[in-house]
Amino acid sequence: MAERKAISKKLRFEVFKRDNFTCQYCGRMAPDVILEIDHINPVKNKGTNDILNLITSCKDCNRGKGARKLSENDILKKQQEQLKEINQKREQLKLLIKWKEELENFADEEVNKVEELLQEATGNVFSDVGRSNCKKWIKSFGFKEVYESAEISIRQYYNINEDSVTKVFNMIPRICNNRIKQKDNPNLYKINYLCKIGENRLYYFNSLKAKAYLVKNFKMEDFDYLKELFTTTRNWSELKEFLEDYYSEEV
Ligand SMILES: [Zn+2]
Repeated sequence: MAERKAISKKLRFEVFKRDNFTCQYCGRMAPDVILEIDHINPVKNKGTNDILNLITSCKDCNRGKGARKLSENDILKKQQEQLKEINQKREQLKLLIKWKEELENFADEEVNKVEELLQEATGNVFSDVGRSNCKKWIKSFGFKEVYESAEISIRQYYNINEDSVTKVFNMIPRICNNRIKQKDNPNLYKINYLCKIGENRLYYFNSLKAKAYLVKNFKMEDFDYLKELFTTTRNWSELKEFLEDYYSEEV
C-alpha cells in the first residue's frame, strides 16, 4: 500500500490560494465550508503531493458526499492553466534577472570609463575599494558628473608626486558635490571665485566674512566691478571700504 505523506502547511496554503479558497467540485467557499486538500490521483494509486495533483475540496466533497467529481477534462484543463501560470511567472523572473544583470554590466562599463580616464593620466587602475566607491559616486551623482569631475581633478591635482594620485581620486566626489551646489546657486560659484582671488592676493583677507557678506548682497551684474575691486585693492581694509560704499552696508 502506498504511503501517505503529510502535506506541508505552506503547500496547503499554496493550493487554497491557487483555487481561490473555493471547493473545486461544488464551488462553495471558505468560511461557509471547511476546506481540505484532495489528491486528484489518489494516494492509493501512487498519487503524489505534487501541487498539480492537489486540489481544494470541501469536507463533504472530499468524503464522497459532495455533488460530483471532476471529469478528466476538467482536471486536465485546470492543470494546463496552472502550468501556463507557472511558466509565465518563470519567464517574468528570467526577464527580471536579465534586466538586473544588464544594469549591473552597465554600471561596470561606466566605472571602466572613469578608470580608463584615470589610467591614461596617472597610470593607475582602481583597487576593489576604489571601484566600488566609484560605482557609488555614479549612483549618486550620475556618470557624466563623475567623469567630468575626474577630468577636473586630474587637471587640478595630478603632478609627479605619488600622493597626488590618491588626491586626484579622493577629490572626485568633492568636486561632484561642489559642482552640484554651484548649479543650484550660480552666484555661489562667482562668489567663491572672488574669494579665491582675495585669499591669494590680500593680507588678512577674511574669507568667511567676505563670503557671508557677498552671499547676502551679491547680484550677477556686480561681478565685473567686484572682480576689478578684488584684483586691484591693496589690502583687506581697503577692499572692505569699497564694498561698504558699493552696498551701503557694513562688512
Ligand atoms: Zn464541495
